[in-house]
Amino acid sequence: MKIAIVGAGISGLSAAYRLQQLDSNFNSGSGSGSDLTIDIFDRRNRVGGVLETINRDDYEIELSADNFISTIPWGLQLCKELGLSDNLVQTNSEHRRTYVVRRNRLHLLPDGFLMMAPTKLFPMATTPILSIFGKLRAGLELFIPSRRDDIDESMSNFVRRRLGREVFERLVEPLVSGVYAADMDKLSVLATLPRFREMERDHGSLIWAMKKQLAANRVANLAEQSGARYSFFVTLKGGLCTICESIESKLRSGSVKLGESVEAISLRKDGKWILKTEKSKKSKIDEGRENSETEIIYDAVILACSAYEAGKLLKDDLQDISLRLSSIEHEGTAIVTFVFNSDQIKQRINGMGFVVPKKEKSVILAGSFSNLKYPHRAPAGKQVIRIFAGGARNPLMAEMDDSELEPILLKELRRIIKIEGEPLFSVTAHWPRTMPQYYVGHRDLVREIEQLVQSQVLLAIAGNAFHGIGIPNCIKSGFDAAEKIHKELATVYKN
Ligand SMILES: Cc1cc2nc3c(=O)[nH]c(=O)nc-3n(C[C@H](O)[C@H](O)[C@H](O)COP(=O)(O)OP(=O)(O)OC[C@H]3O[C@@H](n4cnc5c(N)ncnc54)[C@H](O)[C@@H]3O)c2cc1C
Repeated sequence: MKIAIVGAGISGLSAAYRLQQLDSNFNSGSGSGSDLTIDIFDRRNRVGGVLETINRDDYEIELSADNFISTIPWGLQLCKELGLSDNLVQTNSEHRRTYVVRRNRLHLLPDGFLMMAPTKLFPMATTPILSIFGKLRAGLELFIPSRRDDIDESMSNFVRRRLGREVFERLVEPLVSGVYAADMDKLSVLATLPRFREMERDHGSLIWAMKKQLAANRVANLAEQSGARYSFFVTLKGGLCTICESIESKLRSGSVKLGESVEAISLRKDGKWILKTEKSKKSKIDEGRENSETEIIYDAVILACSAYEAGKLLKDDLQDISLRLSSIEHEGTAIVTFVFNSDQIKQRINGMGFVVPKKEKSVILAGSFSNLKYPHRAPAGKQVIRIFAGGARNPLMAEMDDSELEPILLKELRRIIKIEGEPLFSVTAHWPRTMPQYYVGHRDLVREIEQLVQSQVLLAIAGNAFHGIGIPNCIKSGFDAAEKIHKELATVYKN
C-alpha cells in the first residue's frame, strides 16, 4: 500500500509520523515488515516548510514562527513523543508583557487584557491607550444586548459592536493583526476566535464572562483558540524546525523526497492516484536536462501543501474540491530580524514585544524582543528585535527586495524605539502567500470542503487553511488526515 504526502512542512510530516505509528506491522517488531510505503514530496530542499531557523554564532534566529501555544495539546504532546521535552523553553517570566504603539510610543497593554476583552478593570481604567470615552464605551459592554444566533460576522463588526471603536482600533485590531496578518473587516470571528461569540451567547457580556472564567481559574484555556501572541507560549532550543527534523529522522529512510515537486494528480477509474512529479532544477546543468518528470501510482494521497496548491493539483479530476480550496485567499508577510548591542537601545524595554494599530499608519505589524522573550536566543549584551510586516495591510512587503525593505523597517523602528547607530547585522525572510485568510463564512466553506473530501475515499487534506494556522493545529490536521487514510485503507483492503 503506497501513500503519497504532498508537503514536508509540519502538517505533512505529522501525517507521515502518525501513519507510521498506525502501521502495526512496522511497530510490532514482528519482522513481517511494513504494510505501508509513505512517500513525502516537497519541492524545497529541506523539511519544515515555513519553519526555518538560522543558528549563527551564538544566535538562534527563527525566520517565521517563533513559538507555539501550549494550552492545546498537540504541539507539546508531539515534542514529548519525539523526545524533545528537554529542549522546550518557556517565555521569560520577567518580561511577560506586551506593548501597544500609540503616537510612536510604546505603552503597556492593560494588564489582564486577553486578545479581545479585559479581565481587570483598574488597568483598563488607567491605561493611556484609551480616551475616557473609549473606556466608558468599553464599560457599556456589560449592558449591550447579546447576539444569540450562529451567523458569522467580521472581527471588526463584533468588537466594535461589543466594546466600541477605540478598543477595536487601539487594542484588538493590532493584537489580532499581529497573529493573522488579516483585514479585520473580512476576518471571521467564528473561524478565528469562536470562544468570544460563545461567551457573548452564554453570558450576555464578554467582560462578565471573562470575570466568571477568571474566578473559575479557567482563563488560561482562552489561549486555546485565541492564538494570543505573548501568553502561554513555548519554543524549542535549537529552533522549531527541530520538530520536523526529528520526525524526518524517525521515518523510514528514503521516504522524504526533497527537491521533488508534485505537478499534477489524477484519479484513475480503479481508484488509484497518479502523481506526476518533477525534480526541482538546482543548477544550470539540471536546467539543460531533458524531462525529469515521473509518474507514480499511489493508493492514497494526503495533500499537506497550501490550499491553493492543493486546489491546483485537484483541478482536473475533483473540481468541486479544487474550486473551494482555491477560493481561500492567502496573504504574505516578511520578517526582518535586527541585531544590536544592548547599549544601542536608549530606552528601557520590559516586555516581549509590541503590536502596532493600523490607525498608526505604520509599515510594521508587530515586533518582538527575541532575546528578552527567550534569553537563549542571543549572547548577553545583545538585543535582537524581530519585525513582522506585510499581510493585508501592506501586501507588497512580503516580496520587496531586502535592500529596500530593511531600511524602511529600520527607519520605522527608530520612530518607535530610541536606537543609536546601525544594527550589527540583520536577517530577512519573505513568506509570500503563506497566511490563509479565514474570511467571514470560512467555517461553512471548510465544512463543505471536508464533506467533499470525506466522500472521496483515500484522499485527505491537512494544513493551516482549515482549523487554525498555529503549529499545534497543523499537527492535529496531519494526525486527522493520517487517521482517515489509515481507516480507509484498512476497509478497502479487507474487502
Ligand atoms: C511569518 C510566519 C509567522 C508565524 N508565526 C507563528 C507562531 O509564532 N506560532 C505558530 O504556532 N504558528 C505561526 N505561524 C503559522 C505556522 O508556522 C504555519 O501555519 C505552519 O508552519 C504551516 O505548516 P504546513 O505544513 O501546513 O505548511 P507549510 O509549512 O507551508 O508547508 C507546506 C510545504 O508544501 C510544499 N509544497 C507545496 N506545494 C507543493 C507541491 N506541489 N509539490 C511538493 N511540495 C509542495 C512547500 O514547499 C512547503 O514546504 C507563522 C507563519 C508564518 C508564515
